[in-house]
Amino acid sequence: MHTFADLIANTRFAALPDRFYSLVAPTPLPAPHLVAWNSALATELDLPAQPGDDLPAYLVGNALPKHAGPLASVYCGHQFGVYVSQLGDGRAILIGEARDSSGTLQEIQLKGAGPTPYSRRGDGRAVLRSSIREYLCSEAMHGLGIPTTRALAIAGSPERVWRETAETAAVVTRVAPTFVRFGHFEYFFYQNEHDALRALADWTITHCYPACQSAAQPYLALLDAVIERTALMIAHWQAVGFCHGVMNTDNMSILGLTLDYGPFGFLDGFDAGHVCNHSDESGRYAYNQQPQIALWNLQCLAQAMLPLLERDDAIAALHRFQPLFEEAFSDLLQRKLGFDAWQETDWALVTGLLELMQAAGTDWTIFWRTLSHTPSTSQAPAALRDLFLDRDAFDGWFAAYRERLLLNHGDDAIRLPAMQQANPAYVLRNHLAEVAIRQAEAGDFSEIARLQACLAQPFEERAEYAGYAAAPPDWADTLSVSCSS
Ligand code: AMP
Ligand code: MG
Repeated sequence: MHTFADLIANTRFAALPDRFYSLVAPTPLPAPHLVAWNSALATELDLPAQPGDDLPAYLVGNALPKHAGPLASVYCGHQFGVYVSQLGDGRAILIGEARDSSGTLQEIQLKGAGPTPYSRRGDGRAVLRSSIREYLCSEAMHGLGIPTTRALAIAGSPERVWRETAETAAVVTRVAPTFVRFGHFEYFFYQNEHDALRALADWTITHCYPACQSAAQPYLALLDAVIERTALMIAHWQAVGFCHGVMNTDNMSILGLTLDYGPFGFLDGFDAGHVCNHSDESGRYAYNQQPQIALWNLQCLAQAMLPLLERDDAIAALHRFQPLFEEAFSDLLQRKLGFDAWQETDWALVTGLLELMQAAGTDWTIFWRTLSHTPSTSQAPAALRDLFLDRDAFDGWFAAYRERLLLNHGDDAIRLPAMQQANPAYVLRNHLAEVAIRQAEAGDFSEIARLQACLAQPFEERAEYAGYAAAPPDWADTLSVSCSS
C-alpha cells in the first residue's frame, strides 16, 4: 500500500526536454477539507481506500510527494476553430504517478492547484461547482464503459474564487495514463521545433502506443491509432447522448479519452442539434456536429505531424475516420437495439426513429431503457408509445422493429438482458449534478457520494435510485452551463 507522500515523483513527462513544461509548485490553499474520495479508484492505484487526516493537504498541493518535481506542460490549440498560439496547463499541475493494478503508470494531476506560466489571465483555480461536475462525470463515463480520464478526489477550501459571483475553491485530483493533447503536437509544429515534435511522438509511442514501435512507419501507425481511438470515443458519446461542449483541439486526448469536463451535458429530450454549452453561440459543438468536429480536430493533429509523415499517407489515414466511426457507432446501435448483427438497412430504421424522437423531444435515456424492457411479442406498451407525439407513427416504427427482430436467433430472454447492459438506466443529467452541487455548497457532501455510487453501475437498476432515472423536473429548464469553471 502506498500513500500520497510516496507517489512516483520522477514522472515520465519530466524526462522530456525542459521546453515541454515549467516546474511549478501548487499555490497553497487555506483549510483544505475532503469533499469526495473515490475509494474504488484509490484501491486500483494501491492507495488507501480510507482517506487519512493528512490527505486534504496533499489533494490541494499544500503537501507534496517526497522528491516531487511538480510541473505544468505547454500546448496550444484551435479554440472554436481559431488558432491560439499558446495555451498550457493553466491550472492543472502534475505531481506524480502511481502504478495501477494492471501495471499501467497513471499520471496524478491536481486541477485548480494555482497559477502556472500558462494561466494567461486566469487565476489558476477551479470552483467547487465545476470540480463536482468533473468528478461525477469522469466516474459516470467510466461506469458507462466510455474511455475517459478518471477522478480520484475533490478537496475544497474556504478560499474565495470570483466567477460570475463569489464561489469557493476546490481541486480535483485527475488520473490518466497521460494528459497529452492534440494541442501539445500543434504547439511544437507551429513553433517550428520539429526535433521536439519528434521527441513528443517518440515519447507517446514509447509510453502509450508501444505496438506502433514495430510498425513499418511508427508515426503513421501512431496517427492511425489516435484516429481509431477517437472514432471509438465519439461513437460512444453519440450512442449515450453525451455532448462534450468544448471540443477544442487542446481538449482532445492523444489517448482518445474524454478529457476536460466543462459545460458538458447528456441529452434529455432528443434534439439532434442540441448545444449544451451556453457560450457556444454558433452551435459549433452541437450533439450532431461532434463526429465531424472530431475529424476536423484530427486534421489539425495530422497537420501538426506532417514533418514526421508523408502528406498522402496522412490524408489516407484521415479518410479512415468516417468508416471507423460508422463501424463503431453501428456496433453500439446494434447492441442498443438488441440485434444479433448489423445490416446496412438498419440505418433507415435508426433514422426513422430519430425523426420521431426529434418531433416529440423524446427522452433519450428513458426511451432506450424502456425499449430494453419491451417484449417483442406484443404491441408497443403505453410506457413506450407515450414518449412520442405521433403514436400511430411510432406504432409503425415498432412494427418494423419487431419484424427486424425476427432475424435474431435467440429470444427475448436473451435479448432484453443484453439490451439492459447497453442502455443505461442512469446518466449524469445536469439537474442531478446541480442537486449535489447545491448541497455541497451548503456543506453536505453526501449527495456526491450517493450519486457516484449509482453512476458507477449505470446499467443496474436499483429501487433506491429510481429518482435518478426520471426525466428532469421543470426547474431544470432554467439550468444553463457555460465555460465558467
Ligand atoms: P478550458 O476551456 O477549460 O479547456 O481551458 C482553456 C485554457 O485555459 C487551458 O489552457 C486552461 O488551463 C486555461 N484555464 C481555464 N481556466 C483557467 C483558470 N481559472 N486559471 C488559469 N487557466 C485557466
Ligand atoms: Mg482544456
